[in-house]
Amino acid sequence: MTERFDVAVVGGGLAGASAAATAAERGASVLLLEKNPTPGGSTVLSSGLNAYAGTDEQAAAGVTDDVELLRRDLLEVGGHRNDTALVDAYCREQLATYRWLRGHGVVFGAPLAASGQSVPRSHPVDTAAMVEALLRVATSRGAEVRYRWAARRLEVTGDRVSGLRAIDRDGAEHLVRAGAVVLATGGFSRSPALLNRFAPRMAKAVKAGGTGNTGDGLLMACKLGAGLADLPYIKATFGVFPWPSPAEEGHGLLAVYKGAIAVNGHGERFTDESLPYKQIGDACLAQPEGIAFQIFDAPVLATSTPDVPIYNFEPRLRGGLIQRADTLEELADLLGIPGDRLRATVGDYNARIAAGEPDRFGRRTLSGGVGERRPIVTPPFYGYPCTAVMLATYAGVTVDAETRVLDVFGDPIPGLYAAGEVTGGFHGAGYVTGTSLGKSAIFGRIAGITAYQEAA
Ligand SMILES: Cc1cc2nc3c(=O)[nH]c(=O)nc-3n(C[C@H](O)[C@H](O)[C@H](O)COP(=O)(O)OP(=O)(O)OC[C@H]3O[C@@H](n4cnc5c(N)ncnc54)[C@H](O)[C@@H]3O)c2cc1C
Repeated sequence: MTERFDVAVVGGGLAGASAAATAAERGASVLLLEKNPTPGGSTVLSSGLNAYAGTDEQAAAGVTDDVELLRRDLLEVGGHRNDTALVDAYCREQLATYRWLRGHGVVFGAPLAASGQSVPRSHPVDTAAMVEALLRVATSRGAEVRYRWAARRLEVTGDRVSGLRAIDRDGAEHLVRAGAVVLATGGFSRSPALLNRFAPRMAKAVKAGGTGNTGDGLLMACKLGAGLADLPYIKATFGVFPWPSPAEEGHGLLAVYKGAIAVNGHGERFTDESLPYKQIGDACLAQPEGIAFQIFDAPVLATSTPDVPIYNFEPRLRGGLIQRADTLEELADLLGIPGDRLRATVGDYNARIAAGEPDRFGRRTLSGGVGERRPIVTPPFYGYPCTAVMLATYAGVTVDAETRVLDVFGDPIPGLYAAGEVTGGFHGAGYVTGTSLGKSAIFGRIAGITAYQEAA
């Protein structure tokens, strides 16, 4: 028997849960399909930082922020290659979405400063609790959520998407009719084939993100002529261990932002370490084997804090991921890099600081424009190997501000909507921390509203 719903949502991460909850709140009959046995995708693996401006948490922390500053940051970091209609939609809907999430029990922590933000704007949340809360909203209003159901193809009647074909947990194929289909399938950080096709520079990067993020939605939309945006700007994130244990997967350490330098296997620096971690990631992947070593001394280790995972050095030292030595030569030996080169590199770095000069890569600060460089002089010395990780692709199908999927000529594909990491255009050439979760909730919510209205 063929089933029929007003709205079919594909993917049970933040974008899909937001779309399903919103459409169900409006009274739509909703089906959400998730191909994994549990919901959450990359959302629940993430660091949980959400970029919203003008929040109560910012006010409580004395942070002055507003939507104009947010907009400026998004466009500057995106190299003005962003689709401004999507940036404007994010800015217009961000506070309403933040309040909607809070209204459904999502608890936002105090804002943290992060990459690409003029002011502390990254609000930590428990992402699993957030997705669960939204799915509860959806199911309490009658939505059906099916796990281990994978959408395979979109169904088209005339010129309109009229549903989808999916494989259930037993391998049986089903036709589901729907007034609107929302693709919320996440990115393709787990698809070596698509990465090879669209971002071959990422071949050496560690692959992370939700195991279901293999670009299914992108391919289904492409089959119907969807346009693509932001593919040239796919970047990996610097700082992860090259051979991660499951506990470390996708999570790294950024001692560089506390005063470390990064050297390659020849013991030589290759970048300005105060740059955003995605830019350092590109430079790292261009080094031999795509491997770098972060090198620092005792005062940097002393900044270790359990509150910020990327600066939580102590447990990684105890766990043997970070090496310690009394001299730079001994440290180089432990790391397998030439000791004389490392000593010369550190000596040159320290001399430039003493002379008050930027170094040959232009580094003047610790991170972004903030913090004084520190000479690396106080033993013991520390170091660890690291590389870049493909966490999220931030590029994908073209959509308008109402989340309608646009074809290669910019015309809407009737009946088809997309939200979250499966879409391109919003970030442009660079990613501001917290805006991927922000984008998933904001555009997921818009998709739920538009899909319901147009299906009705
Ligand atoms: C380690 C890590 C840290 C991160 N930290 C941050 C951060 O702090 N802030 C931030 O903004 N972003 C961060 N990101 C990025 C962010 O988490 C993602 O971009 C965002 O969660 C994507 O949400 P989504 O709903 O679009 O996709 P996802 O949450 O990935 O959900 C997509 C879902 O669709 C399912 N699916 C795929 N194909 C099908 C199909 N054919 N049928 C049915 N279901 C399907 C998948 O299994 C998955 O569950 C991080 C990512 C990682 C991996």
